[in-house]
Amino acid sequence: RAGIKRELPEHFRDYRHVWVFIELERGEVHPVSFELLGEGRKLADKLGIQLAGIVLGPPCEATQHAVAEAFAYGADLVYLVEAPLLADYRNEPFTKAMTDLVNTHKPEILLLGATTLGRDLAGSVATTLLTGLTADCTELDVDVDGSLAATRPTFGGSLLCTIYTLNYRPQMATVRPRVMAMPPRTDKPVGRVIRHKLSMTEEEIITKVLGFNLDRQSAKANLAYADIVVAGGLGLGSAENLQLVKNLARAIGAEYGCSRPLVQKGWMPADRQVGQTGKTIRPKLYIAAGISGAIQHRVGVEGADLIVAINTDPNAPIFEFAHLGIVTDAIRFLPALTEAFTRR
Ligand code: FAD
Repeated sequence: RAGIKRELPEHFRDYRHVWVFIELERGEVHPVSFELLGEGRKLADKLGIQLAGIVLGPPCEATQHAVAEAFAYGADLVYLVEAPLLADYRNEPFTKAMTDLVNTHKPEILLLGATTLGRDLAGSVATTLLTGLTADCTELDVDVDGSLAATRPTFGGSLLCTIYTLNYRPQMATVRPRVMAMPPRTDKPVGRVIRHKLSMTEEEIITKVLGFNLDRQSAKANLAYADIVVAGGLGLGSAENLQLVKNLARAIGAEYGCSRPLVQKGWMPADRQVGQTGKTIRPKLYIAAGISGAIQHRVGVEGADLIVAINTDPNAPIFEFAHLGIVTDAIRFLPALTEAFTRR
């Protein structure tokens, strides 16, 4: 590994390794953790340092599986805190486990997914450690002096800014699911696992988990990882017309989504929103009906392999980045397309 020549202040020299938090979601590793391992690998190689996975969980098979998966997706080593108190996510024991690990082993860079859990944990870890955190990054790189260059949209998505945590360590960042590409899975065996104990008791935790109420609607929406997404925008004119989007989605085995105004009008639930303040998607096929293609929408969909736009206005901004443009009335076109697929 060549590594970039780093000129760090003396008190930063103890900080090493890129860490990626491996998030467990109902016993499964969240795919954003693998995307971050892929990105973390690139940063670690540029800096000539190692990539570590951080696994926090109860003593069980799912936690061991998370350790194995971290190695399979490129980690050089894993820091593991196994404790019954880490069975369900609660801010206090997870923050305690993570900050103790950081204070002991001093990572240079700490990456988490910008999921509900990751956002909660990253904020409290950064404030406890008094370090900088750049949220919702779209690009990560290493600057000439070895600092993390964390880029994210700003001013409502009209500008991109690159943020440096120059005077603090670790340099923390969160990245939304699907923003980074998924690295290939390897058959790398489990390597070095460094275990730590959680020094906290149930009595010290003020939150208790009484149970889980899964929102069935939200549980079904898997937009971020869907292969095909059909989305509707204000051009559809009414909440009733959104049925046309759902019908096409059902006919072609797609998830359905929408632009932000439809959520604001209460026509669709928030977890169906695509874009800067909604979900980032990377489907093989994205069909946008009656969506103008504002920059805040574009940043959430431009990673799609094929974008098909249906819009009455030939000058709509969406035609600037769509691969296939259909200038027509979506209210008439969608049923015809659905019927064509249903007939096949
Ligand atoms: P419009 O811009 O009103 O476009 C409707 C389109 O439909 C037009 O192009 C029109 O030509 C076309 N049309 C009309 N009739 C028909 C018809 N019969 N058939 C076909 N086409 C037709 N937006 C998001 O989507 N996601 C976000 O995450 C998001 N985050 C934001 C964050 C911030 C901070 C801000 C300021 C804005 C955000 N927005 C977001 C809003 C964004 O700026 C746009 O206002 C929004 O995307 C527009 O939605 P739309 O394309 O559905 O509506």
